[in-house]
Amino acid sequence: MPDLSELDPRLAEAAAHLPLAEATLDRLRRPRSSLQVSLPVRGDDGQVRSYPGYRVRWDVTRGPGKGGVRFHPSVDRAGVERLALGMTVKTALLDLPYGGAKGGVRIDPKAVSTAEIERVARAWVSGTADVLGPERDIPAPDLYTNERVMAWMVDQWTATVRRHQPAAFTGKPLALGGSHGRATATADGAKHVIDALGTKLDLSGTPPTVAVQGFGNAGAELAEQLFHAGWRVVAVSDSQGGILAREGLDIPRVRRHKDAGRSLDGVICTGSVCDDPGHDLLEPGELLPLDVDLLVPAALGAAITADNAGDVSARVIVEVANGPVTADADAILAARGVTVVPDVLASSGGVTVSYFEWVQNRQGLRWSPEEVDRRLGERLRAAAEETWSRAEDLGAPLRTAASALALERLDVAARARDSLE
Ligand code: GLU
Repeated sequence: MPDLSELDPRLAEAAAHLPLAEATLDRLRRPRSSLQVSLPVRGDDGQVRSYPGYRVRWDVTRGPGKGGVRFHPSVDRAGVERLALGMTVKTALLDLPYGGAKGGVRIDPKAVSTAEIERVARAWVSGTADVLGPERDIPAPDLYTNERVMAWMVDQWTATVRRHQPAAFTGKPLALGGSHGRATATADGAKHVIDALGTKLDLSGTPPTVAVQGFGNAGAELAEQLFHAGWRVVAVSDSQGGILAREGLDIPRVRRHKDAGRSLDGVICTGSVCDDPGHDLLEPGELLPLDVDLLVPAALGAAITADNAGDVSARVIVEVANGPVTADADAILAARGVTVVPDVLASSGGVTVSYFEWVQNRQGLRWSPEEVDRRLGERLRAAAEETWSRAEDLGAPLRTAASALALERLDVAARARDSLE
């Protein structure tokens, strides 16, 4: 079993400076449960093929497992485990009453029909049902899964447990017990963090400029919110390519053009930002070095590595994807004075509103959109400010500070469970 420093060297580094109980560290070294399943599903061609599926609860010291399920060709066990550890840190930093979990299916959702995605989603629930439940482990959307996929999953869950139990999944459609604000929660959370740290980070240019890598649920929504807040969004990209306009892109228009290319009935979007005509096109790799105030990686993990970190011109990076800046890249960026707002803080809006959804489901209530946003803003601003002041106290990067705060919360919970007094 790998050591914490192999799993997550930056977390191990933060842990090394804290008086953590050995039992706390021991809990974090390996998953509480790591399930791999094989999901035989009939394709539209009539053939049955098996997709590998996963559900990992990394740690449940602070509460049931919580985290998304991703459908992507890159999904493997080691990756899902690392992401589940990341969720453990994220929920602890936000002081949500959860542990950390993650799941996934290795599938190329762009290569199969909507009906096949539905069958895979239902098969994933059947295959992992033994480890799920509102007090055991609560899945949610992640990369290439959305509220429609959650609707199929909760429907399958109802059939499996033979009772209505909406709190077993979050990120559901409103009609099935979803929460207002969940669909835009990751972007809303990132915006609250940017607003809370904006003056400290010197993001108050007139207007500040931003480039957004990744134009999915979180990236497109954040780009639009920054656009409406008066920012100049000079470049955006997706898996097909990118576009640039120094005077600023009309983001609502770019979104309309991308959505016009929508296929697969809205499960995933195959349109591209490049479908909006009349802009300079960017080649892969041309967005990251752009001279902007803020760079937002909102696509896949490991977008900024030792190979390209030296090219980054922005003074601030806000990680909206999970794990977009590698450990090697972090060191290079720190040496160059680039501030990185870590994913465990900047992308925590999604799981925070998932928590609100779970609370509402368990109470049989529905909060108004204003109530959800007020509570999200309060939590995210508090976490951002707490992380900032811890970083100042430690003289360390924001990531180290966020890890330290999360590890301390885990330590308090582990000691409370283990105490003999
Ligand atoms: N997939 C999101 C994340 O990585 C949300 C998880 C959740 O809502 O449980 O934070």
